[in-house]
Amino acid sequence: MNSAPSAVLEDGHRELVDAFESFIRRELVPLAAELPETSDQPPADLRAYVRKRSAALGFYAGDYPEELGGAGMPFTAVVLLHHAAGRSGCPLAPYALAGSDGPSPLLRHGTPEQIEQYLIPLVRGESARCLALTEPHAGSDAFRLTTTAVRTPDGWVLNGRKTFVSNADRADIALVVAATDLGAGAGPSAGATAFVVPMDQPGLRIGQRYEGMSGEPLFELVLDGVSVRTDAVIGGEDGIGVATAFAIDSLSRGRLVVAATCDGVAEYALRLGLEYARQREAFGARIGSYQHIQEHLVSTRAEVEAAKLLTLACARLVDEGTEAPENAALAKLTSSETAVRAVDRALQVHGATGWVRGHPLEYLYRYVRMMTIIEGTSEVQKVIIAQAMGLS
Ligand SMILES: Cc1cc2nc3c(=O)[nH]c(=O)nc-3n(C[C@H](O)[C@H](O)[C@H](O)COP(=O)(O)OP(=O)(O)OC[C@H]3O[C@@H](n4cnc5c(N)ncnc54)[C@H](O)[C@@H]3O)c2cc1C
Repeated sequence: MNSAPSAVLEDGHRELVDAFESFIRRELVPLAAELPETSDQPPADLRAYVRKRSAALGFYAGDYPEELGGAGMPFTAVVLLHHAAGRSGCPLAPYALAGSDGPSPLLRHGTPEQIEQYLIPLVRGESARCLALTEPHAGSDAFRLTTTAVRTPDGWVLNGRKTFVSNADRADIALVVAATDLGAGAGPSAGATAFVVPMDQPGLRIGQRYEGMSGEPLFELVLDGVSVRTDAVIGGEDGIGVATAFAIDSLSRGRLVVAATCDGVAEYALRLGLEYARQREAFGARIGSYQHIQEHLVSTRAEVEAAKLLTLACARLVDEGTEAPENAALAKLTSSETAVRAVDRALQVHGATGWVRGHPLEYLYRYVRMMTIIEGTSEVQKVIIAQAMGLS
């Protein structure tokens, strides 16, 4: 039995987590063993296979209702699966759970036709999407958009440039957020609107490709007079000008999923550090017997357990109907900063062995660094917490 304090909050989900871990061990670890050592990213067709297989087993987008192709799991269960994927150390495990190419909460606001045509295939792992929100001058300040959507008699015309878009090279659809311009005489801008645009729509193209430090590429998306019909607006007529509200609505869950992944990665790094400290000898003794090494591992142990407790408590609150942005910000800030420190310390414990290409910590060191930037930077989480504390 697991006697860690966080195990209290895992009650009731152990069987599900065991089944997921068994899937990773039996199916994903053997597939991962065949990947070339020189490549950080698995090929797109293998990712698609993992996604579909996991969806068929009910893990992939587990919190979506069964009528949409999900398994109707509580959010706490989803968080525990993301934790288990991070903790497994298997490079294919993250693709078994819905992430930045999976069903988007934005589409939960879609019309019945959009849910049928776009959301259900995403939940079933049959298609992939990307989110085009960030622009060269609108990152953290995400809704200071210059990409415009201008109304025409038949629909809308989109123009602009999006940047740092994940998955654009293998997505079927892009969810594009644009500043809505209702045209002359229609009054001031109605805010931001989200559109669903097939990747092969004329006028939409991938521009620059950016190589990420962990091998994951990001892309520029150029929208050059992209004409879409009125039914491309997510939510239909009711969705015009309210993309900011749609996005804010889904931020908490997205941040808690990142926090859970980080808790898992931190736990994996700790395990690697511990194993090495127990067997490596220097100056006639196991390095784990030296207090400087113990300091690295004990600090990580305490921080990981605290971070995991916070994430799980916030997930339980979501299941009980409380989705406070401050809670998600606290968890995302704590878990992402903890994971970065945990991997750094585990690498330090390994010395040169952990620094060498091919060692899991060398990859994790590059991979984990994105976690304090995506889904709102650490500074942005602090702004949210400060606001909740009445400081701004
Ligand atoms: C791996 C990865 C994947 C991504 N995928 C996508 C994607 O699929 N789609 C998409 O649209 N975007 C994506 N992004 C972009 C991401 O959302 C932005 O990088 C993020 O929002 C931060 O914006 P920025 O990089 O422009 O930094 P900036 O907003 O320019 O921030 C620069 C620095 O200023 C700080 N800062 C900003 N505002 C404040 C403030 N008010 N107070 C204190 N400090 C502040 C920031 O914390 C940061 O340290 C991705 C980024 C990465 C790294």
